[in-house]
This record gives sequence, structure tokens and C-alpha cells, in this order.
Amino acid sequence: QNTVTPPSLHPRWLRVNLLKSSVKKVVALLLNPDPIWPKPYNKPYKESDVVLDALLPDVMSLPPGSDLHDHPLVIEGVIILQSKASCMPAHALKPMAGWTVVDCCAAPGNKTTHIAALIKAAGGNGMVIAFDRDERRLERLNGNAVRAGAMHIISARLHDFLSVDPECEEMSQVQGIILDPSCSGSGTIYSRMDHLLPSSAAGPRFRGGNSFDNDEGQMGQEETERLERLASFQEAALRHALHFPAVKRLVYSTCSVHQRENEDVVAAVLPEAHSLGFRLKDPFPEWHRRGRPVLEGHDMLVRTDACLDGTDGFFVALFERTSDPT
Ligand code: SAM
Repeated sequence: QNTVTPPSLHPRWLRVNLLKSSVKKVVALLLNPDPIWPKPYNKPYKESDVVLDALLPDVMSLPPGSDLHDHPLVIEGVIILQSKASCMPAHALKPMAGWTVVDCCAAPGNKTTHIAALIKAAGGNGMVIAFDRDERRLERLNGNAVRAGAMHIISARLHDFLSVDPECEEMSQVQGIILDPSCSGSGTIYSRMDHLLPSSAAGPRFRGGNSFDNDEGQMGQEETERLERLASFQEAALRHALHFPAVKRLVYSTCSVHQRENEDVVAAVLPEAHSLGFRLKDPFPEWHRRGRPVLEGHDMLVRTDACLDGTDGFFVALFERTSDPT
């Protein structure tokens, strides 16, 4: 648990798209690739290179540096290049068969297609309503949904989530919500660098032994103000999401390591969430890393650390409605 992994050495995470295939079939294809696939993808992986994730059943990893961007399975939408941490929110939501789920800030749709796959795997005809206010990003979402074979499950809408009426007929049927709003992205800075730089170039900025989640004190004024703006949108969006009347489970997630965008946002809405019948729930009791101890229920919150967990820095909070609003 305490081995520090330079983020440039993260495994290559991938998600099997259950709408198109199964983990078993994908493993078989990685071990015995189709000989007509182009080089280097026609070279088999060793069994020890393909590691199934212990927490998330549709996620696996290949050795660090594995380049799969033009892999035929990626092009066909059978596998999706998505970090383990980014796959946690959809599993935390655990959509049930037949559910209608709202993805509030959805583009480019990694979590939208993941939820669509989990709804289908649960055996029902549910759907995901995916809002985003950015037209170009929503186009990317549509492209990703087509590639994933999820178009029939996803309804993509160009809309500001804050102006969606939670009480309208359609929204009052929604049982699940995922809110993965714009954030500082501070948890992904190293994996983003990884695409830009050779791993040796990432080295000097890696402070071995630190977990990168404690640097708010070192921020300049501009960065602090930006964080405040982001946090105030995140809080407004989370409050809005809590007011969908039939929602049973709501997941709030960020790829930020900052307490201001994570625990502080949850703490700010918690009294209102309680009055609406929600409680914090632990989506992954077997996971070791928890929220910072700055609010009651912090041990229900999930964090991943970009240095210690072999994946991006992420934050996941699950609200579950356990009683009627008071
Ligand atoms: N969940 C996405 C995924 O896994 O692919 C990533 C979402 S990204 C972190 C945040 C998204 O929120 C951006 O696409 C941005 O355009 C969108 N967004 C920001 N403010 C919004 C608003 N008020 N209503 C709807 N979408 C918004």
C-alpha cells in the first residue's frame, strides 16, 4: 500500500465495454490477438501482464507505457482507455435495471457510457440523460457513445444542468444521478503530463514520498480564486442534484486532490442532504483510502492518490436516500 509509484509509471488502465464484450473475451484476445491486427497489436501479451482489478470487475491493467491508442479493440469501442479512478464513480452509483440516470456534466462521456454499460449489465432497459453545456464536448460524447454502442441508452442534451427543472415530469422519474463537474483536474496532472512527456521528463517534478494532496497552502492568489469559483459551482450543482425528488443514489466525484473541491463541498451540502433524506454511504468498504477527517462521515468518502494508488487522484462521495424528506 505504501509503495510510491511515480505517476508516469502508472499501469495502463482499461475498461471493458460490457455493451460489446466481456472481460473473459478481452483477456483471451489480449493473450491471443487476431493475426490480421496491425503491428504491434498482433503481438500477444504475457498472462502476467494482464491484471484484473480486484475492486472493479470490468477494469484491468497492462504494464505501464503500453500504447493502445490505435488498438483495434479501442477503435471498435470494445475497450475504453479510462483510468481505474475514473471508473469508480459509475460503480459507486451501481445503477439498477430499468433506472433512469442523469449525468449532470457528462462530456466527453466516459462515465456516461460506463453507466449505460452497467445499466445494461443489470439486465434492464434504463437510460442515461447526459447534460453538458459545451457543444463541442457534447459532440465528442455523441461520438464516444456511438463507438461504445450506447446510443440507444443515452440521450445527450446541450443544456446547463443548473437550469434543468428537477420537478418536471421527466426529471421526477430519475433514480440515479452522477455529478462529475468541472474541477481543477489536479489529480490527473501527472497522467496528462505522461501523454506529453517521456517518463524521464516527468521525473524532476515528482516529489517521491508525497501524496500531492496537501498543497493548497502553496497556491498563489489566482489559483486560490480559481479554486473558489470551481468549488462554488460544484456546491451549487450538488445542491441542485439533491432536489431531484425520486433520486435514490447520487454520486459526486472530481479528479481533484483539493479538499476545497472535495470534502468541503460535501460538508457544505450535508445538512440540506440530511433534511432531504440522504445519508453518506460507503461505496467501496474494501477500499483503503478515505476522505480527509474534516467532516462527520469522512470515512464514507473515497479518495485515490496519484502516487500511492497507481491511478489518478480522485474523490468519490455517494449519497443514498434512506428516508423521506423532513
Ligand atoms: N464526466 C465526464 C467524463 O467522465 O467524461 C467528464 C466531465 S468534465 C470533468 C466536466 C464537464 O462539465 C465539462 O464537459 C463541462 O463542459 C461541463 N459543465 C460545466 N458546467 C456545466 C453546467 N453548468 N451544465 C452542464 N455541464 C457543465
